[in-house]
Amino acid sequence: GKRAFIAGVADDNGYGWAIAKALAAAGAEILVGTWVPALNIFETSLRRGKFDESRKLPDGSLMEITKVYPLDAVFDSPEDVPDDVKANKRYAGSSNWTVKEVAETVKNDFGTIDILVHSLANGPEVKNSLLETSRKGYLAAVSASSYSFISLLQHFLPIMNPGGATISLTYIASERTIPGYGGGMSSAKAALESDTRVLAYEAGRKGKIRVNTISAGPLGSRAAKAIGF
Ligand code: NAD
Repeated sequence: GKRAFIAGVADDNGYGWAIAKALAAAGAEILVGTWVPALNIFETSLRRGKFDESRKLPDGSLMEITKVYPLDAVFDSPEDVPDDVKANKRYAGSSNWTVKEVAETVKNDFGTIDILVHSLANGPEVKNSLLETSRKGYLAAVSASSYSFISLLQHFLPIMNPGGATISLTYIASERTIPGYGGGMSSAKAALESDTRVLAYEAGRKGKIRVNTISAGPLGSRAAKAIGF
């Protein structure tokens, strides 16, 4: 069977969860990466059976998540983590959650993976029009929503089996003007799409790994509701 790592699952409402289920139904082993601040509530809810109804697969069995890894995809390695984040109670309670460390931990736990899913985005100023977006907010959107994929691929490629596949989720606001999708999120998706083409070329040659992105339709996920979509 194939083994999949899905980055960006913190509840049962988003694309990451749905993709995990589809992969589980097809027989894949499921590992997920959960944003550190959301880890506690996600693991507690899982343990208490809050997601059992939505864990149901077409054959009636429940999706098993083999392991939940804490992840913050805006940090590549421990040296990048600023002191205030290190000291933050929610972060201090977990360890090895930078991208490099997560890839190392997955390697130690399982050796290799076949499928890498990037289903995460964040734009702190998403409610601001692009015209009102600060440099800091713009760069944060690109860091969390675009570079995070480059970083994940960079660190996971060495442990991906040849013939493997990666996928991310984009949005049509990259190519058409969608008022309300601000804060540089439209720019971040445009970068993600361009990077997909370049990385497909590079990862295809380097490791026989496919790189694709799906422009998804609107879904009432936590992230989408937060911006009133
Ligand atoms: P979601 O809230 O289920 O998923 C986003 C996840 O990103 C959350 O679990 C959040 O905890 C995580 N996250 C945020 N910052 C992170 C970080 N620094 N490190 C690790 N994880 C982090 O919402 P979703 O809408 O399913 O989003 C998944 C993907 O789908 C995103 O790329 C989003 O842009 C894309 N998408 C969504 C829609 C939509 O309408 N919902 C449409 C097109 C594309």
